[in-house]
Amino acid sequence: MEVNRSQQKGLCGLATQDSALPLNGVGANGETAESITHARREYLAEIYRLQSSTDEPVTTTAVAVRLEVSPPAVVRMIRRLSLEGYLRRQPYKGVRLTPEGEREALKSIRRHRLLEAFLVTVMKFGWDEVHEHAHGMESVINEQFEDRMDELAGYPKRCPHGDPIPSKDGQMPAINDVSLAATPLGTEGVIRRIRNHTPDKLRYLAEHQLVPGAAITLLNRAPFNGPVRLKAPNGEHVLGAEMANDLFIEIGRGA
Ligand SMILES: [Zn+2]
Ligand SMILES: [Zn+2]
Repeated sequence: MEVNRSQQKGLCGLATQDSALPLNGVGANGETAESITHARREYLAEIYRLQSSTDEPVTTTAVAVRLEVSPPAVVRMIRRLSLEGYLRRQPYKGVRLTPEGEREALKSIRRHRLLEAFLVTVMKFGWDEVHEHAHGMESVINEQFEDRMDELAGYPKRCPHGDPIPSKDGQMPAINDVSLAATPLGTEGVIRRIRNHTPDKLRYLAEHQLVPGAAITLLNRAPFNGPVRLKAPNGEHVLGAEMANDLFIEIGRGA
């Protein structure tokens, strides 16, 4: 199956690529217990993302496409995760996370987003660079490292792209925002999240100061999925519909 490897869409910590997942639990290069756990968590995190937009079970095919691994490998891992109590299987339909599975998925998501926050706040990387770095580092850090990053980054509540960081005890903070594509004209609000992590798009938004925390007013939207015009403190901007779709706004000035 052709999969676009340059695609970087999805919530932070969830869209993955180039995932070389140890599937048999015995790494050829001596993977530790931590890395095996990481492979499991990566599956669970991906299933978390897939199930969060639907009430339907998540199919093997969907997981295989997202993680870029073969369906038989996904079937094996799903069988194992079900036996371990992380997934509930619905025959011929797919899987949903059990509460235990959700807890593990949130650990993986927390680690990814914390890494991103740390890389920007402490190491001064650009927000367009950190998704890839974080993805590569998730499997090689431990809990102590994670706690230290949290402290040094000032206990961040969100990643640099605005996605909420689950708490250490596994709670995903509630978010209250809406896509700019679905916002009524005249809406005043504050940019909270950018769903697309493609580096050139992030750089474009940063150049125009359309970043989390920026106050905007939606002035106009052209018909038939046309561009939107918005006002920000530094002037007016026009964004394509696709970009508008990926900007999430918390409505209200007090936000
Ligand atoms: Zn990310
Ligand atoms: Zn992020």
